[in-house]
Amino acid sequence: MKAFVCAFASLFFFSLHCSGADRISDLQPSSNQYALGYYEGDPLPNKTAYLTFDDGPSDWTSEVLDVLKEENVKATFFVCGAWLPKKSRTGNSFHKYKDTLIRMKKEGHVVGNHTLGHPNLANMSEERIEKQLDENERLYRQELGEYSEKLTLLRPPFGSPYNRNLSEEKKRRVSSVLQKKGIVFMWSKAFDSSDSKEWVRGEWYEKGPRINTESDRFKAKMERIYTRLTSKADGQGIVILFHDTHPTTKEVLPFVIEKLKEEGYKFGTAEDYAKWRWGKTTKQVLEEEM
Ligand SMILES: [Zn+2]
Repeated sequence: MKAFVCAFASLFFFSLHCSGADRISDLQPSSNQYALGYYEGDPLPNKTAYLTFDDGPSDWTSEVLDVLKEENVKATFFVCGAWLPKKSRTGNSFHKYKDTLIRMKKEGHVVGNHTLGHPNLANMSEERIEKQLDENERLYRQELGEYSEKLTLLRPPFGSPYNRNLSEEKKRRVSSVLQKKGIVFMWSKAFDSSDSKEWVRGEWYEKGPRINTESDRFKAKMERIYTRLTSKADGQGIVILFHDTHPTTKEVLPFVIEKLKEEGYKFGTAEDYAKWRWGKTTKQVLEEEM
């Protein structure tokens, strides 16, 4: 009986995932009527995990790419051109990590726009929001040249205003800009890895001598991330939020991927999601929207 149920479940999953049988083909915004995209509560294909990495590139990104290559998993990176805090804040991280970003594209990962300097969009004018996105894309394309393309996917910093208790007016104002710029891809609230919280000694965007991956606190943080991401993954589709700016992330990543694989999960990018949900690439979806 159990075998039958499993066979049936995988058949069901196969038809769901591969034929797009239940695809929502109408180009309707999400139920919340904000800019087109994926938001908490929107449909996701079963047993599919979308790994997303925000705030990079950083010194850790190439090691995240190593893990993804080893595991044969494609992911989505929401990048910022000037978000190396403190001394490097005004720097150009697309220039600094150009080789890593080229590798990201060559290895089949998807790149999205996380704004230039990671501001909270909720309190900004429409012009400034637009500038944050445009400048980030301009810098990315300038540095990456032939390896770049239009950044059709967006993720607002902190997920704001969508995951915050803010007025509808604010949400609609931000949305009015975002919907002109791309497709929003949020994450599943319960699958925020929490890797950006409670930094442990030595964790920083740049490599340095203070990092001790053997320390109890470092290991405890890895354990927390692992438990958080794997204990609730029971077959539902999930969008996981990581940050490729933390050494804990690349350390715990192979364990998370292995466990999800064991549970029968497949992995996809935000582009795979667009194809599943709308039957089109994000570029095609946007062309039809405009
Ligand atoms: Zn961020």
